[in-house]
Amino acid sequence: MNHTPPLFLTARWVIGPDGPMENGCVHIEDGRILGVCPRHEVPATLFEDAPNAEHRDLGEACIMPGLINAHCHAPMAILRGVADDMELLTWLEKGVWPLEKEFTREMTFLGAMLACAEMIASGITCFADMYVWSGEIARAVEAVGLRAVLSEGLLGFPTRTYGSVEESLALCRSFMEEFKNHPLIRFAPAPHTAFTTVSKQLVESYAMAGEFDAPWLIHAAETASENARVQELHGQRTIPFLDSLGCLGERSVLVHAVDLTDEEIEIIAARGAKVVHCPRSNWKLASGMAPVHGLAEAGVTVALGTDGAASNNTLDIFGEMRAAALGAKVREMDPTALHAPQALAMATQNGAATLRLPFSGTLAPGQPADLCVLNLAAPHLQPCHDPVSHAVYAAQGSDVCLTMVAGHVIYDHGAFLTLDYPALLDAGQEIAAHMREIMDRQERQRCEDARPQDSD
Ligand SMILES: [Zn+2]
Repeated sequence: MNHTPPLFLTARWVIGPDGPMENGCVHIEDGRILGVCPRHEVPATLFEDAPNAEHRDLGEACIMPGLINAHCHAPMAILRGVADDMELLTWLEKGVWPLEKEFTREMTFLGAMLACAEMIASGITCFADMYVWSGEIARAVEAVGLRAVLSEGLLGFPTRTYGSVEESLALCRSFMEEFKNHPLIRFAPAPHTAFTTVSKQLVESYAMAGEFDAPWLIHAAETASENARVQELHGQRTIPFLDSLGCLGERSVLVHAVDLTDEEIEIIAARGAKVVHCPRSNWKLASGMAPVHGLAEAGVTVALGTDGAASNNTLDIFGEMRAAALGAKVREMDPTALHAPQALAMATQNGAATLRLPFSGTLAPGQPADLCVLNLAAPHLQPCHDPVSHAVYAAQGSDVCLTMVAGHVIYDHGAFLTLDYPALLDAGQEIAAHMREIMDRQERQRCEDARPQDSD
């Protein structure tokens, strides 16, 4: 990395590696955190001693670790609001898949760009994604300057990018090879589910994850009906089935993990597998309330994800933190379940550990300078006694005023520094018009198909 001059960010609050600090200073150099300290400990002469140094005082704000969205389908941003209020399988089969079939590469790219814009404007510095045409998503992520773990979703039937199971695995490998040395993007194998893939894909992609030291991402135990389907196909529920294939281990990332028995929680904990909790997607699809408190108590690392914008309908990790904490309390009927620091750790450190990122998700010295800044001056964040409480229980994504990845500011007080937002808005409007044409055509076709046939 090129040498960059020192940057000192100061603010009313900093959430450092040891917790909140009032009147703190974050020292950044060459894209990394050099240290976090109380502002009064910074020698008065320091800024003058380093003439190239930049000092930026963010005022009534909180500098905090960048948020990690550990599960998303970024291009689905263009499907936001087109299929609400449906059960998961109906939502997929009648709402989402018929429209996704019509996606072009350009629509995939623009959907990913919109999602990236939404994420950086709400303090997300890294996300994990599962979709097809993931090369287009990589192109968007690279342009925006985000960090990401991407994947070409593996399905046991032909998709737009591969025909056979062998081709799906070969494509997965080629992406992992291509990006293995990229500074911000990694690829990981991601079988869609245990019932939409074949066992060969599960077993071979799991081995590939080991070969590349990558996480292995899979939607698992999202609903009771998923478990019933897997039982029908393989004679076991999802978790025991994956375990029987040898696919549960430290690199396994089980997205959703809603419909779990106590015994399955024990298996997940014993294998060291990780879970990504997506509370608002689970609630909107009425999939259930994941036993996140029980998982955490059993020692399982639980991260947070938004899922795609078509089932959430926002990519706002502040909303997920709040939902996770509130949902756990109601599920357990215990207000002490999943406290605020735990919810914040799920959105930061746990995300980094789950995605096997080579950093901790904190502002500890030596870590990449991935951070966001929460504007505390808004009435709903005043006064601030504890910024962790505010981040979890009071803030929303739109309170973020600055986002930095690897020392580069990519979003600054409403300005998108790495993308042309007005042009993106125009492109989004064009896509919306095109989608409406597709939906009208599909509706006409459905009416045509349903019309009684003339008979002699
Ligand atoms: Zn998903």
